Amino acid sequence: MSTRRKDVAKAYITYRQERTKIRESSGTYVKNIENKLNVENNEMQNANVDEESFGGRMGEASDANLKAYALNYCMPKWMAEKHLNNEIYIHDLSHYALGDHNCLTIPFDKLLANGFNTRQTDVRPANSVSTAFQLVAVLFQLQSLNQFGGVSASHLDWTMVPYVRKSFYKHYCDGVKYICDVADSVYDHINNNLPIDSEEYTRCDTYNYAMDMTTREVYQAVEAMYHNLNTLQSRSGNQLPFTSINYGTCTLPEGRMIIKALLEVSIEGIGSLHRTSIFPCGIFQCMKGVNRELGDPNYDLFKLALESTAKRLYPNYANVDWSGNAGYDKNDPRTYFSTMGCRTANGYDINGFGQLKDGRGNICPVTIILPTIAMEAKDMANHVAAKNKNGTTLIEWNISLVDNFINLLDEKIHQAKDMLIERFEYICSQSPASAKFMWENGTMEGYIPEEGIRSALKHGTIVIGQLGLAECLQILIGTDHTTKEGMELAKRIEQLFKDRCAEFKQEYKLNFGVYYTPAENLCYTAMTKFKEKYGEIPNVSENKFFTNSMHVPVWKEMSPFEKIDIESQLTGYSSAGCITYVELDSGVKNNIDSLEVLVNYAMDKDIPYFAINVPNDMCMDCGYTDEINDTCPQCGSTNIQRLRRVTGYLTGNYTTAFNLGKQEEVEKRFQHSKMLRGWKND
Ligand SMILES: [Zn+2]
Repeated sequence: MSTRRKDVAKAYITYRQERTKIRESSGTYVKNIENKLNVENNEMQNANVDEESFGGRMGEASDANLKAYALNYCMPKWMAEKHLNNEIYIHDLSHYALGDHNCLTIPFDKLLANGFNTRQTDVRPANSVSTAFQLVAVLFQLQSLNQFGGVSASHLDWTMVPYVRKSFYKHYCDGVKYICDVADSVYDHINNNLPIDSEEYTRCDTYNYAMDMTTREVYQAVEAMYHNLNTLQSRSGNQLPFTSINYGTCTLPEGRMIIKALLEVSIEGIGSLHRTSIFPCGIFQCMKGVNRELGDPNYDLFKLALESTAKRLYPNYANVDWSGNAGYDKNDPRTYFSTMGCRTANGYDINGFGQLKDGRGNICPVTIILPTIAMEAKDMANHVAAKNKNGTTLIEWNISLVDNFINLLDEKIHQAKDMLIERFEYICSQSPASAKFMWENGTMEGYIPEEGIRSALKHGTIVIGQLGLAECLQILIGTDHTTKEGMELAKRIEQLFKDRCAEFKQEYKLNFGVYYTPAENLCYTAMTKFKEKYGEIPNVSENKFFTNSMHVPVWKEMSPFEKIDIESQLTGYSSAGCITYVELDSGVKNNIDSLEVLVNYAMDKDIPYFAINVPNDMCMDCGYTDEINDTCPQCGSTNIQRLRRVTGYLTGNYTTAFNLGKQEEVEKRFQHSKMLRGWKND
């Protein structure tokens, strides 16, 4: 063959190869789109997204390709490999290439006082409590379109105080006007020598009139907000914004009025059947001297919160006295410990905002899949040991599996750090035009236009999450952290996370934090991948899900106090968010005092964020709500909706909205109240 013909042949082969590559890749591309458009294999990745809807299908179809694009073109190859290899998971990968960030605590005080701009118009400052609550819903919605995760209010009771006052003033003026009218009519009566109706005078109590009207307005405004947040679909109409509201510490009469209304509407439920509302996630902020004990000014509201929790699962409880929020300002509720419903929290800002929560959020997370790392450490150990036995190598194996794991984990934590910095800088490189609402109105604090959006993003957190501590410990030492031995190693692991994040924070001047990941979908997908590689291992991969973060496995039989005792030994290592839950039976409704003991116990054990799971089954025909077996005891219907908590948030019927892993997890959840003697009849 001549050189020229050889070249032609070679070129042709290369061409064919390239065509095949393109065809194959477009094949995957087409397949991805088809699967998602036809809702084949609906994985229910996010319990609050309707993957069957038009908006859901559009989102899912484009997500599939945006994920592939991100892995191939937006990061170094090794990072994509860590993700694909089930070692370090990159969250919300479909948003990577877009470059938006995760979540935000909205600075409502500022936005309600100053008004804000949208693409179509500008909005004037709120002048009444009803307008203020409407604007809260609007702001939640608008901000959620500028990011991919949740939105929260850090102290909604304090935020609303000026607007309660404005409403009261209006109603008072109306009252005064009414008195003037009465005075006029009395004057007319005297002039015309007619008798005077004495009842007119007694109705002239302006203060009580204004109070009544304000209370009514607050109640209606709160009701409207609950309805808005459960109906205003966002993100192409396929999901509600993930909204959370923190409250409970304001002892002013105006703030108390707000807290009371928030709780009463929560207890009442929404819609014609008085359903438990999914959003907003209510979070009651417990604070010593404010609402914890009999005699505290807001103790009555704490009791009301417990009543709501027993019936509606919300509110959850945030611990304002948590040691991890040290350095907060008692006179500034914007610095009180607050959280996103899921658990993500703003820790101390190294770039000048300290414990300020408002206008800050998580920028991006990654999660280290601990059981994979444990298996890799084990494989390495076996490999070296085998070589020694055959005498083919002279390496002396004198490092224990645990030490080997710790070294390997340290390496992964460093890699996770590099992956976070890579994405953080990518997010910082986006044009402010991509999120005009956010940058024009300063919903993320600290933005200096001349310096670019990094000036604000640097106040957010970038966090290293973890999944499956319990299974990881089983692989390493054959027991989890419910034993003394397991707990010792658990602490060693968490200490490593904590130390490294603290070092990175100083070195890079970015808010690295330890994160006990929600892993709503990951608990299932990571386990599926793990099994494909390692098969079923007893106590490790027999289920369809990995245990959440550092939680005690859901099936472990213990009392709620024991569960708190164990998890509270680890919550202090996390600065970027964690949650502890306990499972109770529906008898708790008649046992508010015991519930109070439990919440106080968790707070005293320095748990930052605590939630209580109570079965919440509702008959869709008559609205009866309790723990329901197969048929409604009131009307006999079998149309039952079963609400359960996923990450911190609630969701619709868990048997249809949760992925298979989470469904199994729910079914395996042990009811901790079973271990309490006399719980039901106390
Ligand atoms: Zn019924």
